[in-house]
Amino acid sequence: MTQATERHEFQAEVKQLLDLMVHSLYSDRDIFLRELISNASDALDKRRFEQLTSPELADGAELQIKLAIDREARTLSIIDNGVGMSRDEVVRNIGTIARSGTKEFIAQLTANKKDAPGLIGQFGVGFYSAFMVSEDITLVTRRLGTETATRWHSTGDGTYTIDEDTRAEPGTTVTVKLKAADPEHGLHDYTAETVVSGIVKRYSDFVAYPIRLVKEGDDQTPINSMKAIWDRPKSEVTEDEYKEFYRHVSHDWTDPLRTIPVRMEGTFEAYALLYIPSKAPFDLYSPEMKRGLQLYVKRVFVMDESKELLPTHLRFVRGVVDAHDLSLNVSREILQKDRQIALIRKQLVKKVLGSLEEMKRDHADEYATFWEAFGPVLKEGLANWDSTDKDKILELVVATSTKERDKLVSLADYVGRMKEGQDAIYFLAGASKEAVARSPLLERFAAQGVEVLLFADPIDELWLENAPTFQGKQLTSIARGDVTLGTDEERKQEEEKLAEKREALGDLLLQLRAALQEEVKEVRLSTRLTSSPSCLVADDKDMTPRMQRMMAQMGHAVPSAKPILEINGNHPLVAKLQAVQAASKDDPRIGWAAQVLFGQAQLADGAELTAPTRYNEAVGELMLRAV
Ligand code: ADP
Repeated sequence: MTQATERHEFQAEVKQLLDLMVHSLYSDRDIFLRELISNASDALDKRRFEQLTSPELADGAELQIKLAIDREARTLSIIDNGVGMSRDEVVRNIGTIARSGTKEFIAQLTANKKDAPGLIGQFGVGFYSAFMVSEDITLVTRRLGTETATRWHSTGDGTYTIDEDTRAEPGTTVTVKLKAADPEHGLHDYTAETVVSGIVKRYSDFVAYPIRLVKEGDDQTPINSMKAIWDRPKSEVTEDEYKEFYRHVSHDWTDPLRTIPVRMEGTFEAYALLYIPSKAPFDLYSPEMKRGLQLYVKRVFVMDESKELLPTHLRFVRGVVDAHDLSLNVSREILQKDRQIALIRKQLVKKVLGSLEEMKRDHADEYATFWEAFGPVLKEGLANWDSTDKDKILELVVATSTKERDKLVSLADYVGRMKEGQDAIYFLAGASKEAVARSPLLERFAAQGVEVLLFADPIDELWLENAPTFQGKQLTSIARGDVTLGTDEERKQEEEKLAEKREALGDLLLQLRAALQEEVKEVRLSTRLTSSPSCLVADDKDMTPRMQRMMAQMGHAVPSAKPILEINGNHPLVAKLQAVQAASKDDPRIGWAAQVLFGQAQLADGAELTAPTRYNEAVGELMLRAV
């Protein structure tokens, strides 16, 4: 039964995307061909795979991609004999974008047209990129194992048509009716063989199937080399070839920071080619990020995004693994339990961490780039209870510090120059680099010349909460509990001075505490401050205020632990308040001062005021009296 022509509307997101393709994206239009070839190659992979389980589907034809040019009609056809699509699959795959997050992607594209080619590849909207170069597109496809074909046609204007058609063999032909060439605007003449084969060499050289230009009556040699770069010895591969392959697997147009070839020979045979990118993809923190490595078995593509090959905290690593002894029928479920995969994963982790170690040791600038892009992801390995490489990752942690504000300091650097008698690695974690760098909590440490590491990534408080130790020294937050610095003798003297002050200021502290009933757990004298009048700290066992906010944002029920307000007993303001109190206990200025001291401490913490109205009132009243 022949079905009539059907006209369909594109999904709203697709329409928007097409509009962008047709009207806004002009740079690097060449990549449309790479996208279509990559789709063809995927379809061939799938066919090869289906034939393994259903050999009756094999027809003996060589799996290949052909490119046919018709100069008169100004068309370019990309022809594959891959798995093809059924009518339903065409509607589903070509009419809609299945992945959620499309809106966000389109927003990114609109905002950042310059990065469009990279974004397009990452997001996998490849097919639509052909509308950058064409007036209309026809796709004829026949699903492997079926007899009839489907014709899809669109001018990119919001609708497409679907018809029944015929095709001699299974596979897909995409015919692109080209716009007039306009080289000045990146629109090359894709009816020129040299242009087409140049693009193939540049982008699709490693595609595992021959790509041939169709010419009358003669059997063409493939344009692409098809070399599986990962199992060639390192000495035989040039830097450029490695980079090109990186582009191929990652769709990232910037050079990788590191290329890591791995050979595993012995009880099992496997090869890997891993890359550490130099910049973070836009979806690094999205659960839908395309992550994981490509898995091959003896050069046959098995699956994409194999997440089992690396832990999540190394999800930025791109590349391929070719495991020779694995079954081609391996499924994701099997991968999760496979012993050999576990061994491969262990090796890969070791290699990646080793490479980072080397980068950190010998190439500080590169490491800073790496850390900027992926440090927070790597540190997830310290926060996850089940990761096994914590010690190694701790070695890789770097942070700014109060000693060297514009250099990254490692824990080993820190320990190496700790003061005599110091038995902890002091750190401050906070909302932003600026907030931690300017925190009043640092004052005393600065005065005593004790270095403090500064952390400002959201993940930091999570892993630091576990109070890890490094070389026997505990990482200790300066925002919590008591801090005691200096020699035993110095500490004793300080304790005595503090006791005296406490005695003298006892009434004032009580009254401040009474004014802040709801806000704080305690008001006490500080040993941390030298110039600021107040700061907030957490009790020894409590979460820091920021940690509490973070947990609450993540939807956890947080036992609300009020902070402790610490007052600088040596601050002139405190002496004045004491005098005010001595004159009259009922002076309202004491209550206002309490609100301001508390509010300032919150602001210095990078937090929002919990009682902005009271704070404003207090500041207003005090100003009124000061002006
Ligand atoms: P992506 O390739 O990233 O999934 P595309 O928009 O390029 O995104 O393609 C959408 C889908 O259409 C593909 O996932 C595939 O299922 C199907 N498709 C595209 N081209 C072909 C082809 N030549 N043969 C078979 N299926 C194809």
